[in-house]
Amino acid sequence: METLRNHIQGEWTASASTDTLPVENPATSETLAQVPIGPDTAADVNAAVAAAVTAQRAWRETPVGDRVQPLFRLKLLLEEHREDLARTITLECGKTIGEARGEMQRAIENVEVACGMPVLMQSEFIEDIARGIDEFMIRQPVGVGCCIAPFNFPGMIVFWFLPYAVACGNGFIIKPSEKVPLTMVKVFELLDQCGFPKGLINLVHGGRETVDALLEHPDIKTVSFVGSSTVARQIYAKASAHGKRVQAQGGAKNPIIVLPDADLEMAAKIVGDSVYGCAGQRCLAASNIVTVGDEKGDVRDAILAAAESKRTGFGLDDAVDMGPVISAESKARVESLIAQGIQEGAKPVLDGRGASIDGYEKGHFVRPTVLEDVPLDGDLVRTEIFGPVMSLLHLKTIDEAIDFINGGAYGNMACLFTSSGAHARAFRYRAQAGNIGINIGVAAPMAQFPFSGWKESFFGDLHGQGKHAVEFFTQTKVVVERWPKEWSRQF
Ligand code: NAD
Repeated sequence: METLRNHIQGEWTASASTDTLPVENPATSETLAQVPIGPDTAADVNAAVAAAVTAQRAWRETPVGDRVQPLFRLKLLLEEHREDLARTITLECGKTIGEARGEMQRAIENVEVACGMPVLMQSEFIEDIARGIDEFMIRQPVGVGCCIAPFNFPGMIVFWFLPYAVACGNGFIIKPSEKVPLTMVKVFELLDQCGFPKGLINLVHGGRETVDALLEHPDIKTVSFVGSSTVARQIYAKASAHGKRVQAQGGAKNPIIVLPDADLEMAAKIVGDSVYGCAGQRCLAASNIVTVGDEKGDVRDAILAAAESKRTGFGLDDAVDMGPVISAESKARVESLIAQGIQEGAKPVLDGRGASIDGYEKGHFVRPTVLEDVPLDGDLVRTEIFGPVMSLLHLKTIDEAIDFINGGAYGNMACLFTSSGAHARAFRYRAQAGNIGINIGVAAPMAQFPFSGWKESFFGDLHGQGKHAVEFFTQTKVVVERWPKEWSRQF
């Protein structure tokens, strides 16, 4: 069984740690590889940071137009190898091949946006801010940064940060989730062919101890984290205490409100896709579906039908709509949260527990689940499940629905289905979430826009993607200049 190697200073190198964890195919429980973990990975972090610091010194003097050339090559290579990368995502993460292809598309779009860095990095200049004095602001790279990634998007999330970091002139270190490290191994095989200087971008495998070593290292200047809110909060506190810039994206409990004037057929289909896409393991997966009005009406039945229609199975099978959850532990947690919801008083109108899929009996499958009338004063309605579970709720007015959203701890996404512009505007104006969808079920910002997130879903100031990433990966320097005319020699 292969033990994964790090990629440091342009070479595949064995970890200093001999402790490993199995990387599992969640559809079969088959072990795909062993990934290094443990306190000894701190030595790997030290080697990676040293390589990046050296490479970054020359890289920051490389003109920005030259810095983006390897990104153009990367875009082409990612497109050429998209199918292989998508298959790897499905094998280690479980999502369907269609979802995995979509994930890689979003990664590529971030590379495309970062290719515009010669324009994006431009700054401000004003002549005669005072008589004979000019003032301008320049953006300079921050140094070496790191990305600590979650398991649910093994290919995409790193690209919310990496292309911007290097195009801005920084070095970068990637620590993928120990549950899904194989996709990044393939990405590094492509990065090797792009023409980046050796050591500028490094891959270090590991878990919590590896992260600690990154957060404590004095030469790491920026930390880009995506994962659960509990860990995001800790990362934010620790990295800030060590004087680093931090962007820490956390968990979610996303609501979708369906008004009686919505296109119900469209809403039901999109709600089903949002809740059950990636088996609910998306930070933008809808979880609480709130119907509004005097009666629940037809929308409840249409949503239920959409849930029932989802086929669960192995993600490489084209006929499958939904793959497994990531691990046996995750399956047990999701099933126990379903039980908790029922205990709190919810009705299980569709119960996906105890699923067994022919030919994949060892897989970690949970079928689509719908809990109806989930109590608003219970715990489940506010708990991130991160599995294919829909809570169906009913409220009388849009104001009650918006108050319900704003009463939650998270603020990653909130969506509304309606045909009324006035309701849409009121919702956009008042809902406390960083990503808003109007007649959209997964309001994922495209690469040009920041991946926003509010409240417990985000710790920091500047998000990943687009102009926020450019600001995060540069520090501004303001220069005030006086060049008196009398100092000029006359020619
Ligand atoms: P996680 O928090 O368990 O792990 C994320 C990363 O942190 C991994 O690389 C892991 O090795 C590391 N880590 C875990 N525990 C740590 C600790 N105690 N100290 C230091 N590092 C630690 O998250 P996950 O289970 O991999 O991902 C799922 C979570 O990520 C969900 O909550 C989901 O909502 C969230 N997520 C958020 C976004 C977003 O943009 N807001 C996007 C994707 C996923």
